[in-house]
Parts: sequence; structure tokens; C-alpha cells
Amino acid sequence: MSAVIKQKRMVAINPTRSCAPIGAIMGGMGVHGSVSIVHGSQGCATYPRHQMARHFREPIEVATTSLTERTTVYGGRENLLAAIKNVCERCHPTMITVMSTCLSETIGDDIPGIIQEFLDMNPGVDIPIISVSTPSYIGTHITGFDNFLKEIVTYFPIRSDRGAGDRSNNRINIIPGWVNPGDIREIKAMLRKMGDEGVNPLFLTDYSDVLDGGVYRPMPHHPKGGTTIDELRDSANSLGTIAIQEHVGGAAARLLGKKFEMPSEVLPMPVGVENTDTFLRNVSEMTGMKPSGELMDERARLLDAVVDAHMFLTDLEVAIFGDPDIVSGLVRFACEVGLNVRFALTSSDSKSFGDTCLGIADDVGLDMEILVKSDLHELHKKIRDEPVDIIIGTSKGKFISREEGIPLVRVGFPVEDRFGYQRKAIVGYRGSISLLDDIVNSYLTNGKPDARDVISNTLLEKDEKLMCTSGLFSPVMEVENNNKG
Ligand code: SF4
Repeated sequence: MSAVIKQKRMVAINPTRSCAPIGAIMGGMGVHGSVSIVHGSQGCATYPRHQMARHFREPIEVATTSLTERTTVYGGRENLLAAIKNVCERCHPTMITVMSTCLSETIGDDIPGIIQEFLDMNPGVDIPIISVSTPSYIGTHITGFDNFLKEIVTYFPIRSDRGAGDRSNNRINIIPGWVNPGDIREIKAMLRKMGDEGVNPLFLTDYSDVLDGGVYRPMPHHPKGGTTIDELRDSANSLGTIAIQEHVGGAAARLLGKKFEMPSEVLPMPVGVENTDTFLRNVSEMTGMKPSGELMDERARLLDAVVDAHMFLTDLEVAIFGDPDIVSGLVRFACEVGLNVRFALTSSDSKSFGDTCLGIADDVGLDMEILVKSDLHELHKKIRDEPVDIIIGTSKGKFISREEGIPLVRVGFPVEDRFGYQRKAIVGYRGSISLLDDIVNSYLTNGKPDARDVISNTLLEKDEKLMCTSGLFSPVMEVENNNKG
């Protein structure tokens, strides 16, 4: 019987989360020419830069107000005024985001008030300067990103009149949440394959080229790519909005929908067959465009890969941890390929995550422990008591993997001990095939000793039922045992 367990311990040991400002920095990276100022001590800027640079392999430029003992006592107003001035003069940004930290929130600095004071003192400054509240004692990196998006959709979108009463820009807003640059590129690729001409997306925000950039000569003043300020304003005129993560962008999508009376959908991460079908169906309903034959071929190849993978994966036990929407997407996909998800863990204190995972467990009759507001110390204890065959999660799971001899499939943020992960996609039919290959090969390479001898008949020897919840197969496929031997 599946259950949601909320951790009671008041301290996190081996946390699987980052601090809130990093989320707002990530969102800001997706706006062309935007610069972030972290209003806190130097470490509050260094830590996110360090974390992001190791995952994305790109320089991460972040300004800091460098609060010290004196400003901790007397307040950081002067530092923030000086920081905004310096950034305007030296970086010539298109926008500035000032994010708070544990320290500046505890001091009680009035960041919006200080920004207004700066604008009053410098009437020539005509770029948007927004503030995002990101104390790390409330939420995680996910919360910081979500708060950034809420500020963006509150501040920028403006209804425009294109004449003859037509306000539509014929685009759809996509809020990708916290994914890889490779995921954003895969979403773009899928949208290009809709209808005859493709769907033109407007990303809130698009960090794919900024966080996985190229070498250009002469070097551009701002990294290439990113959503422009004009596009942020124009997001009010789109055909609709789709967020693919409830916890990063779900609230922003609803705000946009309500304020500008446009359809807005908060969907599960399009990982696997069913969730990708759901994504494309919603795109189709908003735009009137149907998936092309090329997309259907990709889908058919994923179905074929899922059938092939059952041979290796059926009945293996798996533990999945990470950000809530990635984990719930992976739980659905794991069920599609025949894995038994034993543990699903996130650091977020999220009821909706628990409900989503419970719903999936009920669908397929899984006995799953769903751990919320939890950490890797807790997961390790669980795995020691009840070993699993595969772990899926970030690089932070490598210590459990090494100690227990269980293969770790690296997914999520951060993946800092592998090269090129930022370019990979797990979304869409093609991303799911790539992820499925990783899962199977990881088990064949590093799984239990007998796993390395598996050729193709594991399933036949088990004489078991295959479960699939996607609705694309019959719910239960009986596997005949007459080919044995
Ligand atoms: S003090 Fe708070 S905001 Fe700064 S690095 Fe630590 S957790 Fe993050």
C-alpha cells in the first residue's frame, strides 16, 4: 500500500536541493541581456555560480552586494544602490533582477523601496529593475525560480492592439521550468514538427543558448539567446500558455491565463509516452495544428523501445529522487517501462507531489513510499533496509550508489560529475528513448552481477505480467512463456 511520508526531522542531512536565489538566477539567465544582483553576502552569489558552472559548463555572471558585518547591523541599502549603479554603468543590461537572501530578508531590507529610490535618483535609467524574494529558509531553488516567474508575468505582459481588434501574436507561451538546455531544444524541435509550418513558441524564459552557448568572434556583449524584453511583454497576446512543471511556473501560467483571459494549462513533464501525448494534445488544441508524421514516427520508435526494454527492466525496483515535477514525470515513465518504483523522494514540502505520485501508484497497483521534505540520508536508510536495483536522480546520489553498489542514472540538477549532461533531453519521445537507453545500459553495466549476463530473456524467465499505464497498450499484457529456451 503506497503512502506519503513527510520527514519530521528538523535538520536536512545530505539535502537534495539548492538555495532559493539560484532559482531566480536561473530564470534571469533566460532573459537576453539580463543581469542578476544577489543582495546578500558574497557566498550567496558564489555558491549558485559554482553549482551552475559545474552543471552547465558555462561562466555564470552574477553581481553581489557583498554584505558584511557592518551592513548586517545597519542594513544593506547603500550597497544595493551602489551595486545597481555599477551594473548599469559597466554591464549595460536590458534588465536587472535583485534577489534577496537569508541575510537581507532577516535584516529586513526593503528591496523594492531601495530600487524605487535608485530610479528616483537616476531618472535616465530606463531598464526594468525587478525584485524577487528568495530567502532560502522558505522553500528551495524551485521556489526561487517560481517566485521569479510570478514577478515576470506580473511586471511585463501588456495587451497590444495589432489592428482590426486582432491581438494575437499566433504564438504559445511555454514555461519550461527547471530543465536542461537540451530539453528546451527538444521542445522547440517538437513544436517545429506541428502542422505544416510548425508552432512558434515564446519561452518564459529561454536559457537554452545562454547556458549551453557557443564560441563567437567577436564575442557578443551579452550571451546569445534568451527571451527578449519585447517578447516578455508580448506574452500577453499569445494563443495560450503551457507550463510543464507545477512547482516552477504553474502559478505564473495561471496568473497569465486569468489576467489575459487566455487558455492556460499546467501539465506533467512530457517524459514518456503518455505525458508527451498530453503535451502535444494541448499544443494541438491551442493552435489547431496536428503532430506531423515525423513526430508520429518518433512516438512509434519510443513504443518499440519500451517494448524492447521490458525484457531487461520488468520488476526491477527503483528509487527516484530530485525536483518534484521531474520525479513525478519519471515515476510515470518508469511505470510505463515496467519498473517498480519503490521510493519517490523530493526535498520540497509539496502536497501536490504526494497526490500525483499516489495517483500513479494507484493506477498501476504499486507499493510506493513517497517521501516529501526529505533528504538523501533518509533515502539511504530506506535503501539499506530494502535494496533497490536502480537509483535515478542527481549526482548527489553517487555516494549511496557507490556504498550500496547500485547503478545511478543521472537525471536532474545538478549533474556535475558527468560531461555534456546539460545538452541531453529527457522530454519528448526522443528524449525518453535516450533516457530509456541510459537506464537499461546503466543496469547492464553496473547492476547486480547476474544483470551483466542478461541478453534478452529475463522477462521470459520471470513469466510475469507487464504493466503499462499509458493507455496506448492494453492495460495488462499477458506474456506467454512458450518461447522459453
Ligand atoms: S545564506 Fe541563504 S541564500 Fe545565502 S547561500 Fe546560504 S542558503 Fe543560500
